[in-house]
Amino acid sequence: MTASRVLVLNSGSSSVKYQLLDMSDSSRLAAGLVERIGEQTSRLKHTCLTTGDTREHTGPIADHEAALKAVAEELGRDGLGLDSPELAAIGHRVVHGGMFFTEPTVVDDEVIAEIERLIPVAPLHNPANLTGIRTARALRPDLPQVAVFDTAFHTTMPESAARYAIDPKIADRHRIRRYGFHGTSHAYVSRETARLLGRAPQDVNVIVLHLGNGASASAVRGGRCVDTSMGLTPLEGLVMGTRSGDLDPAVIFHLARVGGMSMDEIDTLLNKRSGLFGLCGDNDMREIRRRIDESDEEAALAFDIYIHRLKKYIGAYYAVLGTVDAVVFTAGVGENAAPVREAAAAGLEGLGLAVDPELNAVRADVARLISPKDARVAVAVVPTDEELEIATQTYALVGKNN
Ligand code: AMP
Repeated sequence: MTASRVLVLNSGSSSVKYQLLDMSDSSRLAAGLVERIGEQTSRLKHTCLTTGDTREHTGPIADHEAALKAVAEELGRDGLGLDSPELAAIGHRVVHGGMFFTEPTVVDDEVIAEIERLIPVAPLHNPANLTGIRTARALRPDLPQVAVFDTAFHTTMPESAARYAIDPKIADRHRIRRYGFHGTSHAYVSRETARLLGRAPQDVNVIVLHLGNGASASAVRGGRCVDTSMGLTPLEGLVMGTRSGDLDPAVIFHLARVGGMSMDEIDTLLNKRSGLFGLCGDNDMREIRRRIDESDEEAALAFDIYIHRLKKYIGAYYAVLGTVDAVVFTAGVGENAAPVREAAAAGLEGLGLAVDPELNAVRADVARLISPKDARVAVAVVPTDEELEIATQTYALVGKNN
């Protein structure tokens, strides 16, 4: 029997998201989420996608090991257990791969050590990702575990885009450079956009706008990333749900010296209490649009600031690429918020960009064009699928050995 199943694990500090896919036809067999690991009120929600059965448990799940064991048990109840000979590999989302990991990598002790060395540049994410890897390895030591890095797609950026204008010796000593994130999404969506245009990825230039609670833009030339808006950390770039995105670095000195805030307080302010939430108290675009419909000025200004930044990046990446074949919207806001897409493209006709209001208003969960037929630049909506991309990359690495 050919092993064609891949379990995708996305381990956060107190949660594990998972999907089991069958790569013979890219179908989804099961999906779920364990939340609030380590608390009394942990919750596991599991759905078997072949039967549509959903099961939910609430109660203490002490740690990631207990969480993965619970997931394995649920999968086992559906006849999809981790001990199945059909399971080919486990694919792990790893947020930070630094400059070292440019592609998906089969995990061994050396890979774990390198992911560990990157903890100083990803203190929130890499430890949780490693816990998931270690736990899965302990459960199935014989099974290939593959790390798929959020940063990998961006390692093709030229030095001119990846370096900050600071002393390279200091930058290198502290591994300070622009790494970029959401890479599996940018990779998947830029490829799917080429497919939508009926062209090969190497023949198209695409600006990808991944607008979710976290948000990032990328400039992709012929399938390779040449610039992206997130930097050393996911704080740089676009206005996000709770992150400020770009600001003058001197704001931080000012908050410390004049505002009397500690570094931890500033970190929390910029990462957790800024962006749309900081501007108007809401980070959900649905709520912001509802408030705008009721003439709420605070929400309207937050929306305008969000759109202004987005437009600046579209213009910047147009200049970086020289010629652009498509601008594509993806993730929660990009896929669902027609007013964001309309406002982002408004006034950019001179760049060949336009949105057809009727096509833009259609709600659908498939890749589609929303630009007028004769537009010079295609504008598209492409639903992202990071789990499928992680499974595809994992299977490409290990599946051929089956
Ligand atoms: P993500 O991080 O990709 O899961 O995106 C989550 C964000 O998508 C939410 O915080 C909302 O702002 C946004 N979102 C989800 N559904 C909609 C919708 N129907 N209309 C507008 N925004 C939405």
